[in-house]
Amino acid sequence: MKINILTIFPEMFEPLRASMLGRAIDNGIIELDITDIREYTQDRHNRVDDTPYGGGAGMVMQVQPILDAYRQSGFGGQVIYMSPRGELLSGELAREIAAMPEITILCGHYEGVDQRVLDRLNAREISIGDYVLTGGELPAMVLIDTAARFIEGVLASEESVMDESIYSGLLEYPQYSKPREYEGMTVPDVLLSGNHQEIDRWRWEESLRITSERRPDLMKEYQDRPHELTRKERAILDKYRR
Ligand code: SAM
Repeated sequence: MKINILTIFPEMFEPLRASMLGRAIDNGIIELDITDIREYTQDRHNRVDDTPYGGGAGMVMQVQPILDAYRQSGFGGQVIYMSPRGELLSGELAREIAAMPEITILCGHYEGVDQRVLDRLNAREISIGDYVLTGGELPAMVLIDTAARFIEGVLASEESVMDESIYSGLLEYPQYSKPREYEGMTVPDVLLSGNHQEIDRWRWEESLRITSERRPDLMKEYQDRPHELTRKERAILDKYRR
């Protein structure tokens, strides 16, 4: 997948080069191409923003530097503008984006960008949540990170993106690792039993408990789905009925 970024702060994308995403970039699974919009401004003072027509507070990122940066970088694919007024990012949307061969993400600042940029580039607006950040760089990284998990070869082969919280329909059970005891805190006996059926049952029940406590909306959705369950499992599920 080719991911292009239009930003006035290219250095903010350095964290993408660490960890699993960094490996995916090094292995050529993801191609990351970042363009600094400021390099394309025709303003003598290197400015990329100006006051809004109609008045009001703040500055607006101008159309010329952004369109020139986009065109002269040879960017293509679906243009995405990170914006608090966009459609809310979800796992489903991340998966849809991950299936695209190329995307170009535009990061706004100040009061946002001139509407004509969005109209000309037919931009799809995406929000990462109902709160406002100072710029689109962090939202872009959130989108890239979560979409990348759906791209084959990004996760280690034994990991499945669908086993995680939310995607599985439930929140995840508690996880433990070595040592068995730390400052008097122990690991649940069942996880040391070697009985995989019992372990699966315990993890499933813990997921039910946590989901029921924290996300009754998810719990209800899960319970409304058809499940093939034994009598014992049905009784467990009913214990957490919402
Ligand atoms: N004036 C804009 C509004 O009211 O919708 C907010 C502009 S915000 C201060 C600056 C930039 O941060 C936006 O152009 C956008 O790129 C980014 N941004 C802020 N919050 C965001 C969010 N929740 N999701 C995605 N991008 C966001």
